[in-house]
Amino acid sequence: METLFATERTQTLIPRIQEFLEKELYPLETAKYLTGNFSQVEPILQEKRQLVQKAGLWGLHLPEADGGQNLTLCEFGQISEVLATTPFGHYAFNTQAPDIGNVELLHRYAPEPLRQKYLQPLMAGQIRSCFSMTEPEFAGSNPTRLGTTAVKEGDEYVINGHKWFTSSADGAAFAIVMAVTNPEAAPHRRASQILVPLDTPGVTLVRNIPIMGHAGDGWASHAELRYENVRVPQTHLIGTEGAGFLLAQERLGPGRIHHCMRFIGIAERSFDLMCRYAAQRELSEGTYLGDQQLIQGFIAESRAEIDAARLLVLRTARQIDEQGAAATRDAISTIKFFTANMMLRVLDRAIQTHGALGLTNDTVLAYWYAHERAARIYDGADEVHKAALARSILKGYGLDVRRTK
Ligand SMILES: Cc1cc2nc3c(=O)[nH]c(=O)nc-3n(C[C@H](O)[C@H](O)[C@H](O)COP(=O)(O)OP(=O)(O)OC[C@H]3O[C@@H](n4cnc5c(N)ncnc54)[C@H](O)[C@@H]3O)c2cc1C
Repeated sequence: METLFATERTQTLIPRIQEFLEKELYPLETAKYLTGNFSQVEPILQEKRQLVQKAGLWGLHLPEADGGQNLTLCEFGQISEVLATTPFGHYAFNTQAPDIGNVELLHRYAPEPLRQKYLQPLMAGQIRSCFSMTEPEFAGSNPTRLGTTAVKEGDEYVINGHKWFTSSADGAAFAIVMAVTNPEAAPHRRASQILVPLDTPGVTLVRNIPIMGHAGDGWASHAELRYENVRVPQTHLIGTEGAGFLLAQERLGPGRIHHCMRFIGIAERSFDLMCRYAAQRELSEGTYLGDQQLIQGFIAESRAEIDAARLLVLRTARQIDEQGAAATRDAISTIKFFTANMMLRVLDRAIQTHGALGLTNDTVLAYWYAHERAARIYDGADEVHKAALARSILKGYGLDVRRTK
């Protein structure tokens, strides 16, 4: 636990959560659940959710009025790290992406009837949701270019478009769809976010896209979707028309803290598995893997890199708490590429240390290796964040670097 940013609340909650994970969730990390579809483990996780509720650990990210604990982003980040030490942690505590981001969004910007109908059951874990922005035909790195449109007709929007990588759409009750509503406006004011129940006629889930050889299902899947003449009431608009990008940015600020702390949790668990193995794997009588300096190098470098990333991310979270996401933009870009790459390096060293065992599903490492490579692509690819950071730095040196048009 990072003591520099610890508070009374994190010091009370984290040991309780850690104990819960070790007792209830780590034992589920078997080859059966790590290689199978999510629907196999989901019923068991639903039972675990009841235990989380009984333990008073439900909705930790929520305001007090909604049964949460009013944690700051910096406090929740530290909890998010612990939950991420198992692939099942966030789901069991109902703090999983993309729902956690949608909860924040609906809290702030949804009109009251939508909050009643969709936010309440989402917070209660009775339904799931997804966020539908990226399209196969356009570079996701430049989200001002979208083909999906929402045209007003009577008191409805009629939505047409093709999306992919809508994570967790399979089985979700609704999507928040990014669609162009104001084609004549400036590029950043053209799109809006609209809540679309996924049982609306015209919504087709084309497929769950295979990722690294596995399509998955339910929450653990990424869907291709078509929206064809999908009609929803105009009251399903989130925020105001043309504010889609602004809301996406707001959603992504805290969202990147959640992701980065999740990356740190994965790195920390991988590190723990690597050290345990290095300490007990005997190369010859009385000589262990951990006796080898090359392995010691893995351990020392990983320790330093995880700790550095954690300090950076928690400092960024604190800055968001104090100054808001807009004022923290450079730090948010920095942590996203820095932490994702750190996690993948540590994970790779942990696999290497385990030898062939590291490639099996007898540990959790291979699961993460397959699923977390995406971390350098979603929520802004490395290159996009590096370019944004460098542009901002160079501005201070009098050079105004042009963005991609
Ligand atoms: C597992 C996963 C889950 C996802 N979940 C969601 C979701 O729930 N909802 C959703 O809407 N989207 C989701 N996405 C999509 C994600 O946001 C996009 O993949 C991402 O924005 C990149 O867009 P793209 O794939 O179109 O790549 P492109 O924009 O085509 O870029 C391709 C590559 O080009 C490079 N590149 C891009 N811009 C620059 C630049 N300016 N300078 C140098 N190099 C550059 C980068 O290396 C990038 O990886 C998900 C993606 C993945 C992999």
